[in-house]
Amino acid sequence: MILHFIFVVKEEDLEKRKQEFEYVKQMGNFYKVWIKKKFNKDFEIQCDELITKPRSILQKLDIPTLIRDHEQRGSQIYHFYLCHFKPLWTDCTCEGYHAENFGMVWWQTPKDPFDTLFLAEKNCTTVSHELTHELLRASGHKKFIEVVHDIWTKHLFDQLHFEQYGPNFESTEEKPMFLTINISDLKIK
Ligand SMILES: [Zn+2]
Repeated sequence: MILHFIFVVKEEDLEKRKQEFEYVKQMGNFYKVWIKKKFNKDFEIQCDELITKPRSILQKLDIPTLIRDHEQRGSQIYHFYLCHFKPLWTDCTCEGYHAENFGMVWWQTPKDPFDTLFLAEKNCTTVSHELTHELLRASGHKKFIEVVHDIWTKHLFDQLHFEQYGPNFESTEEKPMFLTINISDLKIK
């Protein structure tokens, strides 16, 4: 199975977002380990940039465009888009969207490109939210939407902490490089 992260970046931002893409590549390797540990699934990870040209207001990039891209690339591959725009519509409680073998999140850019804590808090967490929906769905979990949203509410409002991981992908109490939803109470087949 392949999980392909696609960093969607405007042509004019390519250079200044280089460091974020470096983080994306490390995050991809991290999620390989995290998915194996949490879901006992082996994924081969790929990471690429999708460079977008300026568009007119009528051709705004949105989920249908990404779904078409996903289908053209091959719908048997799990494509996960990290985008510079929010989904226009979503049933998620974060700025992301999921479907079969498809994920997208609004990827927020830090002021300081080396601010990995910002990337972990704003982006890595929402990636784990959408990954968990899809991996639960693929494991046959009936409530793959509700359970994630219940936990997410606890993260946002009940002081449930995100899981913290360091650069070696191990749990840490130190400053984290990656943060994920806490699914330790879920029963996963
Ligand atoms: Zn959701």
